Amino acid sequence: MTSVVIVGSGFTGFECARNLAKKLRRQDADVDISIISPVDYMLYTPLLPDVAGGLVDARFVAIPLANTLRGVQAIRGRVDGVDFDARTVTYVDPEQRARVLPWDRLVLTPGSVTRLFDVPGLAEHARGLKSTAEALYLRDHVLEQLELADVDDDQGRAAARRTIVVVGASYSGTELAVQLRALADAAAKSMSFAPEDVKFLLLDMADQVMPEVGDKLGAAAQRVLKSRGIEVRLGVTLKEVHAEHVVLSDGSLVRTHTVAWVTGVTGAPLIEQLGLPTEKGRLKVTTELEVPGYPGVFGAGDAAAVPDVTQPGKITPPTAQHATRQGKVLARNVAASLGIGKAKTYKHRNMGLVVDLGPRYAVANPLNVQLSGFPAKVVTRAYHIYAIPRFVNRWAVALAYLTDVFFERSVVSFGLSSSEDARFSASEGIPMPRAD
Ligand SMILES: Cc1cc2nc3c(=O)[nH]c(=O)nc-3n(C[C@H](O)[C@H](O)[C@H](O)COP(=O)(O)OP(=O)(O)OC[C@H]3O[C@@H](n4cnc5c(N)ncnc54)[C@H](O)[C@@H]3O)c2cc1C
Repeated sequence: MTSVVIVGSGFTGFECARNLAKKLRRQDADVDISIISPVDYMLYTPLLPDVAGGLVDARFVAIPLANTLRGVQAIRGRVDGVDFDARTVTYVDPEQRARVLPWDRLVLTPGSVTRLFDVPGLAEHARGLKSTAEALYLRDHVLEQLELADVDDDQGRAAARRTIVVVGASYSGTELAVQLRALADAAAKSMSFAPEDVKFLLLDMADQVMPEVGDKLGAAAQRVLKSRGIEVRLGVTLKEVHAEHVVLSDGSLVRTHTVAWVTGVTGAPLIEQLGLPTEKGRLKVTTELEVPGYPGVFGAGDAAAVPDVTQPGKITPPTAQHATRQGKVLARNVAASLGIGKAKTYKHRNMGLVVDLGPRYAVANPLNVQLSGFPAKVVTRAYHIYAIPRFVNRWAVALAYLTDVFFERSVVSFGLSSSEDARFSASEGIPMPRAD
């Protein structure tokens, strides 16, 4: 029997598996589809800031593979090698056993991981926002620090516990800062301290907040951040990270126990391991999402440098919008390689972005229409509820949003994700050659 192996269950792998299974079912084709991933779900990452802010439960943003991918075998494991001659992948299962799987068509969609820089102490003391472990850790850690600050006799240390540094003022870092702010405000109300005692610092090397949404909406976002008590420092990043303070690139020292690093992504480590040609750390593929010179091997999503045919010479940015659409084209082109239908070129124009900026505010530019404030908030929430690929999850997220309209956020930390679980190495699988 012919077998298709899909590596990674993110937006791209999930859409590819779902659409391919549907196409093959219709043709009654004798093809096995497997999807290998370290997790048994597809993570709806755009709502991770909401998880970190305690607004939405982590389960609501995880789409289970088990009952959504009919006709696809989901395998838990992390792929660590591909033999292109023997046509096999090797992977390590959750019990650390090495396993081998043969393939006739291979789809490489392992996504991306947080881009780390050589900043001393970064991997040890900072945490990212790419996984549920990281989002849950940030929520719990912020609350724990606020609770500890409440009973700390040392004024300086209490202030450090109440200082949160977020690095990266693109849309995900900005969304994280506003959601953590809303969580801290809820904690202040429940625990009876002044919300302004909690200081937020949002840093970025760029000279603008959220360059993705343009000057006008970026400026609007910056005003909202200021009104929410989030200090934005541009042209600055981290020079050193320590357990109880950071040193910024301008030489200033900030006492803090919480550093979130959300400065962008790079291709999954697997891509480099494979030794295939790359561009900017992403797998080189054709406009039909095939790896050149490797018949039957496909790639797309954040892990791949997909040529943007709408802007010759450029590659598509790492967004869910592209990843989802590329997953569908992958399904079509893999099916075509099996003799079902015709392959097509990937072509998609950017449809705009929606950015949730916390209570009653958002900015959005759907189809280039610039929106801010409450109308953007409605569009943003409606978009996410529509885009989540499973009814039960949509329902649960919608209810969480409704609950937030009428009630205060719950100020509870379960401690299910420890500081160790949320390390870049443990939660994202980034190899750490040194002390991490
Ligand atoms: C906090 C945050 C907010 C975002 N918000 C938005 C937004 O609002 N709009 C938007 O368009 N985009 C957004 N993005 C970007 C979007 O999440 C990505 O572009 C999208 O997830 C890419 O999909 P993907 O399938 O290529 O990769 P991923 O979603 O990263 O999925 C990769 C999958 O591969 C698995 N994997 C990794 N390595 C291996 C391996 N070796 N073996 C097997 N499996 C492996 C992973 O576990 C995962 O299941 C956001 C991202 C983040 C982190």
